[in-house]
Amino acid sequence: MMKLLRRVVDIKTGSEGPAHDPYSYTQIRVETKHVREDGYALVQDVELHEGLVEECRVRQYIDRRCVSFFTVEGSKDGRIVFEAMTGLTPEMAERCRLRLDTRCRCGSRQVRAENGYPGETLYVCARCDNVVSGHFNEESVR
Ligand SMILES: [Zn+2]
Repeated sequence: MMKLLRRVVDIKTGSEGPAHDPYSYTQIRVETKHVREDGYALVQDVELHEGLVEECRVRQYIDRRCVSFFTVEGSKDGRIVFEAMTGLTPEMAERCRLRLDTRCRCGSRQVRAENGYPGETLYVCARCDNVVSGHFNEESVR
């Protein structure tokens, strides 16, 4: 059995492609660090990028040496690889990050996403409607 030491979920949004015809993208990255039975640290970095380019990039390191690096192209195949490597669907990873980040002053960790101003996503407490946190994608309002 490997022991999970750390899991980080990071989500980025922005735009890519030519300035006159930009594409919005979402990038979900899940980094995990395990300790193997032999004592070596296994770090896995899985990044799903969906925008103009659709692909899943996977990197694995054992004892800080890169032992595996590959990219799977296409949204469908990328999602399958993302899920296989992380054990999470992209949607689960997104919720997982919300859980890590947010807790309302009422103590609830249940939040729902709502659209605010253009480019803005608000996370609203499901129990008391308090705005817990916001996420602003400045690229989308340029
Ligand atoms: Zn609340």
